[in-house]
Amino acid sequence: MRILSLLAFFALGCGPTREGGSPTSVAVFESDATVPLGHPLAGKPPASVIEEPLLMKGIVLSQGDDRYVVAAIDWCTMSSATYAHFRRALSDAAGTRPDRVTVHCTHTHSGPVAGTTQGDLVREVARRASRALREALPRARRVTHVGVGSAEVEEFASNRRVPGPEGRIVARYSSTKDPELQAAPIGLVDPRLRTVTLLDGGTPVVRLHYFASHPQSFYSDGRVHPDTSGWARSRLEKEERIPHVYFTGAAGNITAGKFNDGSPEARARMIDHLADAMRRSIAGSTVSPLGSVGWKVTPVTLEKRAGGDDPAPIDLIRLTLGAAEILHLPGEPFVEYQLHAAQVRPDRLVAVAGYGDGGPGYICLDTSEGGYEPTASRVGPPTELRLKSEISFLLQDRKLRVVVFGGHPDDPESAAGGLIARLTRDGHEVICAYGTCFRGDRTLGGEPEGVVRRREAAAACRILGASAKFFDYAHEKLSADPETAKVVSAWLAEVKPDIVITHWPMDTHENHHAVSSLVWQAYRHAGGWSLYYFEVMTGRQTLGFRPDLYFDLEGVREVKKAALDCHASQNPGKIW
Ligand SMILES: [Zn+2]
Ligand SMILES: [Zn+2]
Repeated sequence: MRILSLLAFFALGCGPTREGGSPTSVAVFESDATVPLGHPLAGKPPASVIEEPLLMKGIVLSQGDDRYVVAAIDWCTMSSATYAHFRRALSDAAGTRPDRVTVHCTHTHSGPVAGTTQGDLVREVARRASRALREALPRARRVTHVGVGSAEVEEFASNRRVPGPEGRIVARYSSTKDPELQAAPIGLVDPRLRTVTLLDGGTPVVRLHYFASHPQSFYSDGRVHPDTSGWARSRLEKEERIPHVYFTGAAGNITAGKFNDGSPEARARMIDHLADAMRRSIAGSTVSPLGSVGWKVTPVTLEKRAGGDDPAPIDLIRLTLGAAEILHLPGEPFVEYQLHAAQVRPDRLVAVAGYGDGGPGYICLDTSEGGYEPTASRVGPPTELRLKSEISFLLQDRKLRVVVFGGHPDDPESAAGGLIARLTRDGHEVICAYGTCFRGDRTLGGEPEGVVRRREAAAACRILGASAKFFDYAHEKLSADPETAKVVSAWLAEVKPDIVITHWPMDTHENHHAVSSLVWQAYRHAGGWSLYYFEVMTGRQTLGFRPDLYFDLEGVREVKKAALDCHASQNPGKIW
């Protein structure tokens, strides 16, 4: 449902580009999420003492008829089923839709891993959170301004993947006493903590913090607590007497290992460093009017690892608050995804919350084989390509450029004519690309076939509001060889589309098959765009295609019909 949901987004105009906006309010809620004694924790042994309660803390943003819920819970991770359960429960309580709710674990290992087996705990915690949310709504405060700031956290984050002997990757876990691992360089991290503050006039109402590192200091001792992020959070709350919510960013490969020997002293230092960065991030914040709240959702299906189950689509969510873009990611993404997001919007403060839907486990890079994380991940290549493309798309505000790539004139029109008409009607740009327009020196009605078919396709494109790109290959010469792949890839690299839609690869027509392969090769080697497949003449040409995205022709049916009728030489009634 990806394209449809995006279209709905643009059509509804609830994007962040709108100026002004109706009055906005925020309700802050907090509820207990502590496990009972004896409950399994992320690390062994099970809970033996509650050192500090675990919390779910969240905000409910209301603007006009739109309402959104964003929450963080002091748990290690949660399964897809748990994530879905929280979304349903909190959306019911807030009177909104589940796709306007997101919940993220802070990733403390002194809390539970919430799988489906711990249904009782999940249901109870969801009930408590729903109650707290409902009770918070009447206390909602007006929000007029947003503060954004960031500060470097000293001596905290270090990369877990340390290059070892013979090119091996050695894991630098959250705490280590190994002098070699302590001495190894920090490696790639995002050292900045980011803070988004919601204000009523000049008065801060709630602060949201984002930082990419595993938060744990010493753990696996049966003690239950939210660890360093929780303690830093409550320290700031005591100082400021307003709620603070903490989100762990894309920290799949980031731990405090270099700076944490697992001692109580190291824990105290880590809390100090985190709290200190929060204070500096707040002090350096710049405040501007809130304007419209933006909430944009795009589902992404990550690729399963060999032997795994087919992953279900997962929502990526972008929340725009004034000068802040907050990106909500599933699983345990590597820090590279967070850095990528910041690069996509250097003009904005991009804060990232990871550890939403825990279905994927670690989200590694396509090239990051070896070491610990890939062995514990449920998704594999080309997940990086896909996720980065979707993040780029999600964070950008511009209109889309879509390439619909067919074997022949009439393929894009018959496969996706309605979608093309709808996209261009909504202001997006569509290019219909055609792999081949003629067979040898065949003629149609005395004219060269290529001339006739180009003319027909150009007329169809005019009706659809698209532009046409003709490749000059004859039917019998079009193949997915390296030379042609280079030409097609170079063209796509020049066009820089957001989305390319082409033939499903299993197709009995060799031109369709070749075009599909050419597009796939460009995606595989460079990408930077989202890839979708269409079908033509199902069962006779396209084989084994199971669509998971349907487009409703309502409103554009006649436009598609008129575009197909332009292909007079192809018996348009037959391909309609
Ligand atoms: Zn982890
Ligand atoms: Zn065709």
